[in-house]
Amino acid sequence: MSDSVLDIAFGRPRHERPYHDVLGTVGWTPLIRLNRTAAGIRTPIYGKAEFMNPGGSVKDRIGPAIIEAAEREGRLLPGGTVVEGTSGNTGVGLALAAAIKGYRCVFTIPDKMSQEKVRLLKAFGAEVIVTPTAVAPDHPDNYVMMAKRIAEETPNAILANQFYNQANPEAHYRTTGPEIWEQTEGRVTHFVSAAGTGGTITGVGRYLKEKNPDVRIIGGDPVGSIIAGYWKTGVKPEGAPYKVEGIGQDKIPGTLDMSVVDEWRSVEDRDSMTMARRLTREEGLFVGGSAGLIAHVALQVAREIDDPDALVVFLLCDTGERYLTKVFNDEWMRENRLLEPARVRAADMVTG
Ligand code: PMP
Repeated sequence: MSDSVLDIAFGRPRHERPYHDVLGTVGWTPLIRLNRTAAGIRTPIYGKAEFMNPGGSVKDRIGPAIIEAAEREGRLLPGGTVVEGTSGNTGVGLALAAAIKGYRCVFTIPDKMSQEKVRLLKAFGAEVIVTPTAVAPDHPDNYVMMAKRIAEETPNAILANQFYNQANPEAHYRTTGPEIWEQTEGRVTHFVSAAGTGGTITGVGRYLKEKNPDVRIIGGDPVGSIIAGYWKTGVKPEGAPYKVEGIGQDKIPGTLDMSVVDEWRSVEDRDSMTMARRLTREEGLFVGGSAGLIAHVALQVAREIDDPDALVVFLLCDTGERYLTKVFNDEWMRENRLLEPARVRAADMVTG
């Protein structure tokens, strides 16, 4: 396909009229082509810039959708409380909607997540409880278990329940999927994402496959997560810790439909973080480690298929500002042995 096709602005007119509130600006994120990182690759690769949502991540799509579904079902009443276990971004999406609608928010977040995320949730007025990361999924201190308990014990509260709430994949089926289809004029051949709840890959994958069953849906998974191993063997492997935030699982969530995904590929933390830094420095796309992981897989796939008529779309999940103390902090990267080999070698040479 020619480049110029995607240069035209499709879809919603760009901010021609004022919005009633910030929720109106969620979605219709641009597709942006990779250039320098894709040098020598003939397959065009486009990232969907979810970091440009008002709360800085793909989760702005599901926060309002979950709250509005609970309102419609009469489960969330004025003055109510929204409780959720979150790696941070869903909390922001929920907090955006809750701020406008006047709900209280209580979030539990595992202690592996960045300080920026905890502060961000507090900035929105949420109450935040930090929980230990290294506990079993059914342990009472696990962030999801704790959120469940708080929701049960708090009057007029709902659990957003992103790991089981079908409003999550539905939001992507109704918005992210159709946007990609329209923005590529139906030419998308491969969609690459990852799974935290699986809402994005399930909703987008379902929509794109309905439009064209030949579209391949590919999931990236951090080494240490169980999803890729479970897909390969049918047996749930032991999970292990990893550093990338927001994706990968120690159990298969109810919002992840494994039948929608054609293939899963495991990615090392080092490759994910290195790619997030390259996207920032070579493309001006300032994103977090999960986007780095997905871009790493998207580039792999594009290189393998080597087809100028194919079109790979992948997800740029959230903004790098959320990881200034981590992915974009050389000290933290070095401490965790995540610096790209070339830089480690250079550092070794300086210190002799
Ligand atoms: N990247 C980041 C940084 C996230 O926080 C999340 C959601 N937890 C995802 C990717 C994955 O999205 P989903 O839950 O739709 O699978």
